[in-house]
Amino acid sequence: MNIRQLRGHHLLCVHGFQGMGYSPSFIEKMGEIVGEIRDPESDIWIEVKLGFDEACSACPHQGETECEAGEGSDAHVRGMDTKVIDHLGLEKDAIYRKDWLVNRTAQMVQPDDLDFLCADCSWLSAGVCKEGIHRLNRNTGW
Ligand code: SF4
Repeated sequence: MNIRQLRGHHLLCVHGFQGMGYSPSFIEKMGEIVGEIRDPESDIWIEVKLGFDEACSACPHQGETECEAGEGSDAHVRGMDTKVIDHLGLEKDAIYRKDWLVNRTAQMVQPDDLDFLCADCSWLSAGVCKEGIHRLNRNTGW
């Protein structure tokens, strides 16, 4: 069983990712994860984290114990993780089949939900995150 770890808010980022990120290694890692998430043939499992995940491990902002992207960033990203996990009705540290998680996201998240779930995230204003959720809603017919 191929298991990927994703923190709560990254469950949404993977649908909006368009090759932007914090460093070449982060972009490469996110590209690898996103490729598997978006590939309908890929049968992987996702362990939902509230805290560091595989993407963080390739990010220049990962500190010893906290996200160090900026002042207050660890509390901010953990807050987004919690909101997304709660919104989707998931359990932290539980493992879900990828297809089930993607379909659940398509059913339960609308583009404008990101105004609350991802409030104050610097990427939100780029628009690609809402576009990604819109595409997800459309592709899965929800
Ligand atoms: S900015 Fe923080 S939460 Fe985001 S990937 Fe980097 S370490 Fe993880």
